[in-house]
Amino acid sequence: MSNEGGRQISVGSAQESRTVKLLVACGILLAVVIAADPAAWSLRERVLLALVAVLSVMAGLLVRRDRLTDQRLAAERRQLSIAVNNIPQGLVLYDASARIIICNQPYLDMFGLSPDVAKPGCTMQRLIAHRKETGSFDGDVDAFCNAIIQTVSLGKATRQLTEAPGGRAIEIINRPLKSGGWVATIEDVTERRRADEKIAHLAHYDGLTDLPNRILFRERLEQSLKAIQPGEQLAVLYIDIDEFKSVNDALGHPIGDELLKGVAERLRGCLKETDVAARLGGDEFAVIQTAIKDRSETTQLVDEIHSAIRQPFDCMGHLITTDASIGIALAPVDGVDLDQLLKNADLALYGAKGDGRRTYRFFEIGMDHRARARRSLELELRQAISDGSLETYYQPVVNIEDDKISSCEALLRWRHPERGMISPAEFIPIAEDSGLINQLGLWVLNTACAEAASWPDHVRVAVNVSPVQFRSPSLALNVAAALAACGLAASRLELEITEAVLIRDDEAALDMLHQLRKLGVRIALDDFGTGYSSLSYLQRFPFDKIKIDRSFIKDIAGPGASSSIVQAVVNIAAASDMTTTAEGVETEQQRNLLYILGCTEMQGYLFSPAISAAEVRRLLLSHRGRAMSAA
Ligand code: GH3
Ligand code: MG
Repeated sequence: MSNEGGRQISVGSAQESRTVKLLVACGILLAVVIAADPAAWSLRERVLLALVAVLSVMAGLLVRRDRLTDQRLAAERRQLSIAVNNIPQGLVLYDASARIIICNQPYLDMFGLSPDVAKPGCTMQRLIAHRKETGSFDGDVDAFCNAIIQTVSLGKATRQLTEAPGGRAIEIINRPLKSGGWVATIEDVTERRRADEKIAHLAHYDGLTDLPNRILFRERLEQSLKAIQPGEQLAVLYIDIDEFKSVNDALGHPIGDELLKGVAERLRGCLKETDVAARLGGDEFAVIQTAIKDRSETTQLVDEIHSAIRQPFDCMGHLITTDASIGIALAPVDGVDLDQLLKNADLALYGAKGDGRRTYRFFEIGMDHRARARRSLELELRQAISDGSLETYYQPVVNIEDDKISSCEALLRWRHPERGMISPAEFIPIAEDSGLINQLGLWVLNTACAEAASWPDHVRVAVNVSPVQFRSPSLALNVAAALAACGLAASRLELEITEAVLIRDDEAALDMLHQLRKLGVRIALDDFGTGYSSLSYLQRFPFDKIKIDRSFIKDIAGPGASSSIVQAVVNIAAASDMTTTAEGVETEQQRNLLYILGCTEMQGYLFSPAISAAEVRRLLLSHRGRAMSAA
């Protein structure tokens, strides 16, 4: 089109150029003729000829100016044509009688139209009919055109979304022009729509698991709460993975992510179509169970979720076993207000965590009170740590054969200003949950090492290390620093760890144990028999000592199998050069039996409860005195 225009203009300009030259030449010629022999012409003739000469030159110049204007217009038309054909949108400019003035190439391409039809002068009806013939329009041509013509003639724009071949989304906007007529822009909005849909999806779904996020979860819960039928209930389950941080710490964040994806997948598998699973953030998931007739349906779902989650996960080649705590609130019994219900589910989850994890709890009225009491205890514990009102007590461990004190176990005591002595069983879990355990553990380590430095050289000190402390990469460094600070020999420090440290196939924990061993400290496996008691733990690390839990010692003289278990543990320990300490020995009978079974050491009320640092010093002095007088 533009080439044609260009060609026309160049033909026209050659003719015009000749005319200009002719007129100017005529004018100049006349002027020369007059100037050459002015006497040959009368004054009238001279004036007339001069006028003709001037007019010729002026006409020539005018023609030239018109020619330049036409050239400029043609150039502008060409530029407009280039611009119009190069915009990504289709564009059709209609005049007031609904005929095409301009129809650009993208419009033709979008609908696969012929330029012979969609050209200036073609009516809108004909254009849309052509689209119908070629398959990009399937409506009523007249109705469609009339609706647009009527609307734009009222000075209003129209906007519609339509589907083009290949499932592409096309947006058509018709905007009226002040000068009459209108401009139609046609845009392929498929990608924009996809991006919008993606953004809308991201706003409501969790990027990692593709489960609904907290926002959508709340929306769904709101809808479900409104839809509760008489006689039916709704359950909200809060599900939090137990000790998930240790997976991240031991195997890295990407493996943790894989585990979260796996949990999400298993959760989906447990639900019926009307139920909703969501990821609220971190390792916290939630489920809405609808149309419950009986609470047992929820218990059943919880059991299914637990057994699904407890199956090992293969995360990038790592076999991971995990578990979850679940808190449940029911509507309408526990509340019909969304926030109240969620708060109650959260309290129930808190209750499940507080009751040892790997379990579930339905919301109960007292939970709020218990949670508040627990939180205030946490605040008081922080205070106790900072103002030094915690104390370290020591319980002697003696050789079963001669009652000689071989070591003392450091045990934390908290003397509360109002409640008196608070048991470690009550505050250690709080310290572990809140992360205070690291601070607390470090304090006990430093205090106990400093105290032991004043004891006779053959008496060791034993310090408990919680699984939470074990996750800290600086544990070995802290131990080395504590020993160096008081000059205690590493061989006089015994760290007691529980099976919980080794519950996962935790390479990081084993690595830490080896680092500690390299320092020269001794490692004891504490509370053996209370947890999974897998003998494989004993194979995975060469412990120096096994401490047999008090529950076996209590019944050792009874008819049960306790004594044979103790015998088995003693044999295994002896075979690997480990010593054994029996915990909770209270009677002579127990002690005699343990002696017969070959147990090395004992600890318990029979010899001494945990006593203050000052009492230990006195006890060690009197022991030394006794030993010396016996010698
Ligand atoms: P608890 O038994 O008390 O639930 O302890 P926990 O170790 O599971 O810790 P908690 O539930 O309090 O914290 C969850 C952790 O999950 C905290 C954070 O380090 C981790 N986390 C949060 N978001 C992500 C994530 O998107 N990916 C991974 N891999 N980890 C996450
Ligand atoms: Mg968790």
